[in-house]
Amino acid sequence: MEGHFQLESGGKEGPRAGSLRLPSGAEARTPLFMPVATQLSVKTLSPDEIGYTGSKVVITNGFLASLEPGSAVIGSVGGMHSFMGFKGGIFSDSGGFQFIRKGFQARATGKGITLRSPYSGEEVLLTPESVVDLHIRHGVDVGMVLDHCPPFPASLNDIIDSVGYTISWARRSKEHYDNIMDGSLSGVGEHRTLLYAITQGGTSIDLRKECTKALVDMDFSGYGIGGLSIGEGKEDMFRALSASTGLLPEDRPRYFMGVGEPDDILRSVLAGVDIFDSVFPTRNARHRTVFTKGGRENIRGPRWKGSSDPIMDGCPCPACTGSSRGFIHHLFRTDEPLGPRLATLHNLTFIQSFMERLRERAIDGSLDPTIRAVDLMIE
Ligand SMILES: [Zn+2]
Repeated sequence: MEGHFQLESGGKEGPRAGSLRLPSGAEARTPLFMPVATQLSVKTLSPDEIGYTGSKVVITNGFLASLEPGSAVIGSVGGMHSFMGFKGGIFSDSGGFQFIRKGFQARATGKGITLRSPYSGEEVLLTPESVVDLHIRHGVDVGMVLDHCPPFPASLNDIIDSVGYTISWARRSKEHYDNIMDGSLSGVGEHRTLLYAITQGGTSIDLRKECTKALVDMDFSGYGIGGLSIGEGKEDMFRALSASTGLLPEDRPRYFMGVGEPDDILRSVLAGVDIFDSVFPTRNARHRTVFTKGGRENIRGPRWKGSSDPIMDGCPCPACTGSSRGFIHHLFRTDEPLGPRLATLHNLTFIQSFMERLRERAIDGSLDPTIRAVDLMIE
């Protein structure tokens, strides 16, 4: 395979540290946290500001981007990197996760998934092949295959069906992708978009293993672990995660989709995960919650009024180096858009500093189950 991932420490199981060299030339180190840019924007931040937080890679949604602004628009300006004006790496999800979101009225058939466009209200058919096509047309670094994510809770029969769809669609995705990359189909942009599979199986250990083994046999560039963190308990989630990571190849990145709480990231890194994404830091920031070493704090709380302290001593983010708690409190009370922006800059910087410490510990071998997330936060 193309070797876009180099493992620098760790092995098949346990904490790992590595580096990604993505097709666009963007580079990132793992464990990696990706802010979510569902509609091609990390909400409230300019592309440069994303970089200021230490974020090297974002995740967008290929399905939504194919509707608005549309793949033709993105393709006509040379791809998603130039359309967004973002110099880092871009991963892109398939739309499979929208299957369990309200409002999309999704249905799965043998062909793929039909979903309702949130913009026009029209019904759209996503197939494994059309998802590969749109990722390549968008020129993203990593495209996720179309998977089938069962809702939680789901019956065993529903999970069996879901794993069946996921395996069959992954196979069709890979065949179509290989045909394009062999040059027998047109559409390859400036660089070669990589394709990652997504394992499913709910919280059934047997089905997780069956799905993971089938996808590993197809030899993808990386593997997402999907369909978790959607309402199942933590213990079930981590059992299902470990059942997946234990079967994934050592030399391919493992991406735990939709997980972003520091405690969960730490536990997942201990279980051998390399990559994460979540709206957790950005959504919390917009809803006036910031992360500090002492825990989460409500910016609109009375203790913030008039305070000249930064959000957190020692934090290098633009909010902490340039603004006081009292000012940010005022911005939130008066609904100024600068408030959510400063809080977002802080929360993402906080998470990225946390990831850097995780990485240091993964490399020096001092990451073990006795470590608490709070031990890895900025002094
Ligand atoms: Zn800060």
